[in-house]
Formats: sequence, structure tokens, C-alpha cells
Amino acid sequence: MLFESCKIVGHVDGPRLLVTAGVHGDEWEAMIAVRRLAETLRPEEIRGRVTLAPILNVSAYRASRRVGEDGLDLARTIPGVRDGSPTQQVAFQFTKLLDDADYYVDLHTGGVRLSIWPLAGYLIHSDHAVLETQRLMARAFGLNAVWGTDPTVEGRTLSAARDRSVPAIYVEYLGSGIFCPIAVQALVTGCKQVMAALGMVRLNESCSKPRFFAEDARPGAGHLQASHPAPVDGLFETIVAPGDLVESGDVIGHLTADACGARQPISADRGGRVVAIRTLPRIQAGEAMAVIAPFEEIQDG
Ligand SMILES: [Zn+2]
Repeated sequence: MLFESCKIVGHVDGPRLLVTAGVHGDEWEAMIAVRRLAETLRPEEIRGRVTLAPILNVSAYRASRRVGEDGLDLARTIPGVRDGSPTQQVAFQFTKLLDDADYYVDLHTGGVRLSIWPLAGYLIHSDHAVLETQRLMARAFGLNAVWGTDPTVEGRTLSAARDRSVPAIYVEYLGSGIFCPIAVQALVTGCKQVMAALGMVRLNESCSKPRFFAEDARPGAGHLQASHPAPVDGLFETIVAPGDLVESGDVIGHLTADACGARQPISADRGGRVVAIRTLPRIQAGEAMAVIAPFEEIQDG
């Protein structure tokens, strides 16, 4: 295998859960959280089996960047090729792990470039039972927001899960390359809350609950790399933070173009919550400056 994984086999038969991180090599809190799970989950406390893979794309991790040494984004490469380039091989080997799972959780952060609102997301699956289980898992994770999006995307870990009808969620938690211990704790706790919701562990503590919800099946919904593309190379100064509520036309930052030094305001192209914001100032034309989407607030009870 091109990446490490470990299995924690419970003393009682039950569901098989796969948890991964390091699809992108610069999302470190997610990797630490998976290692923390490997250290703290005990076989006698588990019903079923948990497979933990902390760093899927090792060549991306070694270079501290999103993509592998071959320049490929693992989240656009699945299902991969058995004898392909390094990232294609990782993609292929990931699908073998997934073939052996009943449920799947994929942990991410915004990496060094983005800060992303803590959320649990899923593809709006055409099979109602799969979709309901994904909603259950996303709510159980207990982050700020739950976000169901375009089910037609290809190349993602969740695309492979969709094709196998394996209920799957992905999780995002801030980013920007500054170590965030709260993120590690929230990701560990969230995974345990999903396991509790699936009947794999018992938890004594009460679970945190999401406050915001959205489902949007339109093409492109949920794409974190293609929204508000920078028109030119330059330096981006954000003035908003993940979770902020903005209206269409609100200024969310300023972009200073390399070519002429002119500083122009960047406006929100729709109203809603700031799901992701570019926090690394250096930006190239076409890269996302922000992702904004409408969410409804979940009423208690
Ligand atoms: Zn990622």
C-alpha cells in the first residue's frame, strides 16, 4: 500500500466504518485527529470495525501541499488506476478500502489557502435510504453546519462511495495553516458521535448539534475550488470570516492586481453564509476567493 491504515476490530460484530484524512497533503488537523482516534478507540468499546487511514496522499503530505508529486488532486482522481501515477495509484488503493466499508467519513480542512466553516457535507444521493443515513451522520458529527450538495460530481472520495451506495460524509474545519487544537478535538469528537449514531460506541457526554442546514442539488453546488474566481493574479485581502452572513453585493475583500497595482473591491455574487474564504493573500487568476451559500437556521425541537 502507498499509505498506512489500521483496523480496530471490536469484540462484537457490527458495522464497518472507514475514516480517512490526508486526501490533501496540507490538511494537518484532520490527519492528527485520525491518529488520535487510532490511539484512543479501544476494541472492547466498539461494536463492529473501524479502519483508519490518516494520510492518504503521502507525496502531497511530504510536500505540504494539496496535490501529489504528479500534480494531481486526489479528490479529482478517484477511482484511479492500478499502475498509474502515484496519486492515481493511491486513488485505486483507496477504492479497495472503500469496498470493505459500510460507512465512510472523510476529514478535511481548508489547507494552507482557505479557511472553511466547520461543516459536515454529503452528496444528495438518489437512494433515499442512503441519503437519510448521510443526513443522520452529518447531523451527528455536530459541527456548525450540515450541507447536502450536487450528487453528480466525479473524482471525489464521495463519488466512489455514491457509486457503491455506501453512506458517506466529508467534513471541513477551518484551515489556513495555523495549528488549531480545537479543530483536532472537534474532528475526534465528531467521529465518535457518528459512531454512536451508527450504534458502534456508547457516549456518556451529550452531543453537540449543528445550527445551520442547506441542501442544494444544482450542478456546481458544494464546489469549494471554483466560486468567486480571482480575475487576475495578485494579492487578496479578505475582510470576512467563515460563517459570516453577507448579502449579494457586499464587499468581502480586496484584490490588488500584480500587473498594474490597482486595488479593487471584491463583492459577494450572492447572499448567504461565507462557507469558505481565501486566507492566503497570494492568489492566481481562476483560484477561488470565497464560497457563499444560503443556509437555514435549524430551530430547536
Ligand atoms: Zn481537502
